[in-house]
Amino acid sequence: MINDLLEEIGSPETIGISGHIRPDGDCVGSVLGMYAYLTNAYKDAKIKIFLDQPPAIYSYMKGYDEVDTTFAYPGQFDVFIALDSGDVERIGDAAKLFLGAKKSICIDHHVSNSGYGDVFHIEPDASSTCEILTRMFKDEYMDVEVAKALYTGIAHDTGVFRYSCTGPDTFDALSRLVKYGFDATKITDETFYQKSYVQNQLLGRTLLESIIFMDGRCIAGYVDRKAMEFYEAKPSDFEGIVNQLQMTKGVEVAIFMYEIGTLEFKVSMRSNGKVNVAEVAEYFGGGGHVRAAGCNMNGTFHDVLNNLSLHIERQLDALEEKDAQAPV
Ligand code: AMP
Ligand code: MN
Ligand code: MN
Repeated sequence: MINDLLEEIGSPETIGISGHIRPDGDCVGSVLGMYAYLTNAYKDAKIKIFLDQPPAIYSYMKGYDEVDTTFAYPGQFDVFIALDSGDVERIGDAAKLFLGAKKSICIDHHVSNSGYGDVFHIEPDASSTCEILTRMFKDEYMDVEVAKALYTGIAHDTGVFRYSCTGPDTFDALSRLVKYGFDATKITDETFYQKSYVQNQLLGRTLLESIIFMDGRCIAGYVDRKAMEFYEAKPSDFEGIVNQLQMTKGVEVAIFMYEIGTLEFKVSMRSNGKVNVAEVAEYFGGGGHVRAAGCNMNGTFHDVLNNLSLHIERQLDALEEKDAQAPV
């Protein structure tokens, strides 16, 4: 647990910041929000950001152009901070910088995070890493740039304040952020709702070819390598597809996957509450949250589905058994 972030950081000369591979809105928001905040707090420190190339939609954030995508750094950092990543492997090539730092700090909200680094602060009930940071940051070093970045992360991880992870503390954090005065609607419109033509084509295609099974309680769709190459799709082009699948009436679990290598899929799962998809993802070496989780899996689309559905069905059956035994 971190009580006072700046006290924990101390007075370093060098600070490194990173987040998980294939960064999403909460990852980019927390990393660049932290960067903007620490730039205000430590005027003389050298602060570096290491991250996979964030999508251009986030280029309005301070520090976007400072992102180092090479992960090359010859020295040792005094402090290195990992954000929004459930395990150290998920910060990719930044792991060696994190592990080699004099002090490593992890701040995260994944339920699958068992804690890594010298100091870690994990709030599995927080909607987003950006919500945690909003509570940690002091007024003194906050400004509109920090606020915009953190707002973005909260908006993304809550599906614009809609998912069940959104709670009173989320709105408290948001209320503090919007007071800095920025165009909040523009941020959600341009980074969350708006899709490129290709993204919409991929969404339409996936919905059209999706299959439902387990008596309509499960829905799944995928994009294979051939389609990815045809559309020149990037991983960020698939964001939101699994959530649209989840909006199918009667569905308990939605699964979306795309091929990252020959017969290797990046799997995304979303649950409407009954099934703990973090548990399923963890079984296959991934992780995430109870209602949103992911993992990488090998095999054909149908192999992967068979493996996943076994675990999903087991959870649903256990629930039904419990319901049947419950006194009426
Ligand atoms: P996604 O389906 O990629 O949007 O991810 C949903 C949640 O699960 C996010 O919080 C991710 O950080 C987490 N997650 C996704 N894939 C993995 C993975 N391979 N390992 C650990 N956590 C993951
Ligand atoms: Mn994330
Ligand atoms: Mn997050």
